[in-house]
Amino acid sequence: MTGQPAGTALPRRVAVVGGGPAGLMAAERLADGGCTVDLFDAMPSVGRKFLLAGKGGLNITHSEPAERFGDRFGAAGDWLAPMLAGFGPAELRAWVHGLGIDTFVGTSGRVFPEHMKAAPLLRAWLHRLRAQGIRFHMRARWSGFAPAPTGEVALCFDARSGDEPLRHEAGVDGHPRSFDAVVLALGGASWPQLGSDGRWWPVLQDQGVALAPLVPANCGFDAGWSEHFATRFAGAAVKSVAAGVQPDAAPRQGEFVVTATGVEGSLVYTLAPELRDRIAREGMAFLFLDLLPDRSLARVSDELSRPRGGRSMSNHLRVRLGLTGVKAALLRECAAPTVFDDPAQLAGAVKALPVRLFAARPIAEAISTAGGVTREATDSHLMLRGLPGVFCAGEMLDWEAPTGGYLLTASLASGRAAAAGVLGWLQAQGPAAQGSAA
Ligand SMILES: Cc1cc2nc3c(=O)[nH]c(=O)nc-3n(C[C@H](O)[C@H](O)[C@H](O)COP(=O)(O)OP(=O)(O)OC[C@H]3O[C@@H](n4cnc5c(N)ncnc54)[C@H](O)[C@@H]3O)c2cc1C
Repeated sequence: MTGQPAGTALPRRVAVVGGGPAGLMAAERLADGGCTVDLFDAMPSVGRKFLLAGKGGLNITHSEPAERFGDRFGAAGDWLAPMLAGFGPAELRAWVHGLGIDTFVGTSGRVFPEHMKAAPLLRAWLHRLRAQGIRFHMRARWSGFAPAPTGEVALCFDARSGDEPLRHEAGVDGHPRSFDAVVLALGGASWPQLGSDGRWWPVLQDQGVALAPLVPANCGFDAGWSEHFATRFAGAAVKSVAAGVQPDAAPRQGEFVVTATGVEGSLVYTLAPELRDRIAREGMAFLFLDLLPDRSLARVSDELSRPRGGRSMSNHLRVRLGLTGVKAALLRECAAPTVFDDPAQLAGAVKALPVRLFAARPIAEAISTAGGVTREATDSHLMLRGLPGVFCAGEMLDWEAPTGGYLLTASLASGRAAAAGVLGWLQAQGPAAQGSAA
C-alpha cells in the first residue's frame, strides 16, 4: 500500500519505539503508507545491535527452502508463517538490493550482504528513511503509557539531557505525547549495553499483557571445567563433531568453542532451547558429543580393541583414531576414569561423550532472547489485544530461532507485518479528526 490510507483527511501520526531492524522496517512501511512517523530510541543512535551483528559477518537471511526455513522457529513457526510469507528471504534480498547493496550465498546456504558488513546497509537505509520524512528522536527512553482520549495512544518518555528543540517538539520531556497508533519494537534483553535491556517487560506486565519470561537463546553454557582443562583449552574450537541432548538421538554435526567456563558456538546454540529448558526443569543437562561422527561405533570399538602394547592411552587414541588436542582432552575431562580400562566403554564415550552442563550463561551475553510478548497477547496483526492501537514487532515477541539469518529475517518481517497491521487498523478507524494529530 502506498499513499495516505484511504478515507483519511489528515496523515495519521504513528510512533515507532525502538530503532532496531524491526522498528526501522515498521517505520519505512508506515511512511510508505502515508503516515507521519516519529521514531524514538533510548540510545544516541539507532541500529546498534544490527551494527554489532555485522562485525562477525552480517548473516542477513538463509537460502534454504521456505518450509525448512519456517521449521527453524519451532513452535512459533505457524505464528510467523504469514509474516515470512509476506517478507521472506527472497523479499528481504530484493529489499537489500533496493538499497544498492548486493547479496551472496555462502557455502552453508547463509546469505550475506556484499562485504558482509552492516554499516553500509544501515547508512543507505537511514538515508532513505530520512528522505521519507521519518523523524528520529534519540536518547528518548519510553517508560510507559498515559491516559489518552479514545482513538489515541499517549506515550511517556524518561526525561533526558540535551537536544532541547526535539524534547519540546516530540514530547520527550516527561510530558506524554499522543499518537494515532504505536509500534513497540524494543528488542530482547541480550547485550543491554546496545539498548535492548528488557526494561519494557514489567511495563507491559503492569498493563496486563500476557508475557513469557525473557530467557537467553543462542547462548553458551557452564560446564564447570577443571582448572587444568580451562587454562589449557579455553578458546579452542572443536570442529567436525556432532552433538545431541540424548545419547541415542541423531546428533547434529557442527562445531563449537570451549570457553573458560563451558561451551558456546553455533552447534551449542542450535541445541540451546532444549538444553536451557532441561536445565530449568532438572537442574542440569548433558550435551552428548560424538567426537568422530564419520566413524561408526563398531569401527571405533574395533580400533580401540587392538593391542596397545607399551603405548600410553593418549598415544593409542592418537594412533588408532587420530584423537588429539582438545578432543582428546575433552574425553579425559568428561569420561569416567574407569571407562579407559574397557575398549567397548571407551568407544561408547568417544561416540557419545556426556558433557554435563549446569547453567545457561547470563542473558546479557546471549546472541538473542526467547520469551516476551506471547502470541495470545496479540491479534493476527500484532496489535496487543488489551491495548488497542499498540502493536509489537521483532525480538520482543515470544519466538526464537538459531543463528543463520533467521533472527534478522523474522525481526524485519514482523516489523513489516506490524506496520501493515497499523495501516489496516487506522483505515478501519475512519478519517482522522482535524486537530487529533497535533
Ligand atoms: C553479537 C550478535 C550477533 C548477531 N548476528 C546476527 C546475524 O548475523 N544474523 C541475524 O539474523 N541476527 C543476528 N543477531 C541478532 C539480531 O541482531 C537481533 O535479533 C535483531 O537486532 C533484533 O532486532 P529488533 O529490532 O527486534 O531489536 P534490537 O535490534 O535489539 O533493537 C531494539 C531497539 O529498541 C531500543 N529500545 C529498547 N528499549 C527501549 C525503550 N524503553 N525506549 C526506547 N528505545 C528502546 C534499543 O535501543 C534498540 O535500538 C546478532 C545478535 C548479536 C548480539
